[in-house]
Amino acid sequence: SVPLSFFAGIGGASKAGVLIKGSNHLETLAKVDTVVFDKTGTLTEGKFGVDEVSGPLPENEILAYAAALEQHSSHPIAQSILKAYQGTPQAVTEVQEVAGHGITGSVQGVQAAIGNQKLLQSLGITAPEPVGVGTVLYVAVAGKYAGQIVINDQIKPDAKETIQALGQNGVKTTVMLTGDNPQVAQSVAKKLGLTKFFAGLLPEDKVHHVEALTKEAQGKVAFVGDGINDAPVLVTADVGVAMGGVGSDAAIEAADVVIMNDQPSKLVQGMKISRKTLKIVK
Ligand code: ADP
Ligand code: MG
Repeated sequence: SVPLSFFAGIGGASKAGVLIKGSNHLETLAKVDTVVFDKTGTLTEGKFGVDEVSGPLPENEILAYAAALEQHSSHPIAQSILKAYQGTPQAVTEVQEVAGHGITGSVQGVQAAIGNQKLLQSLGITAPEPVGVGTVLYVAVAGKYAGQIVINDQIKPDAKETIQALGQNGVKTTVMLTGDNPQVAQSVAKKLGLTKFFAGLLPEDKVHHVEALTKEAQGKVAFVGDGINDAPVLVTADVGVAMGGVGSDAAIEAADVVIMNDQPSKLVQGMKISRKTLKIVK
């Protein structure tokens, strides 16, 4: 049977905004020594500003194709593009979202795509050098490179202190995984004081990294993500932690722990509560 103090622990965590979905997860959380973070929407806000739009097509046309496609995505990138686009997005048919790549579809009968270098490569289109620093979205129209949009995100206010606090609370390894490009990953990692990160990953690559870290770790492995494209990795980790505010329904469902207000520092709080609870019952 479950010790009574576990319920007090779960209750305490829930008051702090950390929903622990069962006493087994509380126990696992107390034994975590490796924390793996997704980047976008977890360590960063997931609210991108558009910094540069660059042709061959005129800027407004690039953005129009981008907005048309992104109206069909729930990725944080999509919301940001739609916010930057002032008009009403055009209708799209044959929409296909490819996780970790981007979106393709037919805009008024013209084949269009938006996504990273991997997406263009898969379409047989060569992507030029980025015109700016940040997350680069390439737009292709009618099978040709049509332009790029450089967007930038912001680090969450409590992200850096979270990384530090984990180290001070018995976490031996902290890692960031991202599907974003290595330049962005390196810049975010540096700002956070994170030495270990992997970029350009597909959702299945994230699963493999978490599996490898689970073999290396002495304790338990937590994965923290917003869950967009990340449901498989949330399930793979010993304890899957989802951001409840920006997170997808699928992620909140797949997670063992939900952080209600999306602050990564809540993870530290949840770990402290669970450790205290376990010591009490020992
Ligand atoms: P992460 O959460 O680690 O940043 P994702 O796997 O969600 O990574 O996405 C990785 C990359 O795939 C993004 O940085 C972007 O380049 C591309 N991508 C994914 N979804 C979209 C989308 N809806 N529109 C444009 N690009 C996308
Ligand atoms: Mg993500």
